[in-house]
Amino acid sequence: AVLGEAMNRMAGSLAEQSELRRKLTGNISHELRTPLTTIQSYLEAFRDGILQPKRENIEAVLEEAARLGKLVNDLQGLTIDSYEREALKLKQLPLTELVTQEAERIRPLLQQKEITLQIEKPVADFSALADETLVERVISNLLINAYKYTPQKGKVLITFSQGNEEVCVAVADTGIGIDAEHLPYIFERFYRVDPSRTRATGGSGIGLAIVKELMEAMGGRVDVDSKPQHGSCFRLYFKRSK
Ligand code: ADP
Repeated sequence: AVLGEAMNRMAGSLAEQSELRRKLTGNISHELRTPLTTIQSYLEAFRDGILQPKRENIEAVLEEAARLGKLVNDLQGLTIDSYEREALKLKQLPLTELVTQEAERIRPLLQQKEITLQIEKPVADFSALADETLVERVISNLLINAYKYTPQKGKVLITFSQGNEEVCVAVADTGIGIDAEHLPYIFERFYRVDPSRTRATGGSGIGLAIVKELMEAMGGRVDVDSKPQHGSCFRLYFKRSK
């Protein structure tokens, strides 16, 4: 019976994986096709004299091209291959310091929406196993999301805590929050709670998948708590030592 159950579980997870892969390729094609189609139709309209190649029309084509470019960049950032993973030299780093530095870099962006950023640093710095570049990418991804999904005059709070084995960095916002039904999927590639809304904010649904991947590459993990209309709290857990 135990063996049978294990077999069933395995079959189930294989089916799940192939379903995920199918969704992923479908999503990539869809994401690439949309801007491409727009660019193509503009160019055809210019060629056929239906549309004048005026500045504003050309701007629209450029915008679509930029979107394609961003998508390709995001895709590149998504996979740390095994080589990179091995080349990754995890070091004991002053995490509080690194996170604060990166957050300060993003403060001006938050200020554009009058969002206040508060960083509650512990009295003594926490250090953990990490890679400087990856920490920067993880923090910037979370803060850019906080910016995108928090209304004007909101608040973002960064706090630190330390357990026996892990250091936790929490990034909380007073944004729109995420419905419980969507929460399990937001770390999946290309998953967006509201595709039409995130299209307007330029999201491609890859940011959190990158965060998860990078945290795992550092031997850590990420989780989230969220309440619709109240806000979200993303927590990054870093290993204190090997
Ligand atoms: P995107 O590029 O669409 O922002 P992400 O992978 O970064 O993609 O996030 C996936 C989805 O999770 C987003 O589309 C959004 O619906 C939701 N999300 C992410 N961060 C937040 C946040 N801080 N507050 C509310 N919703 C969020």
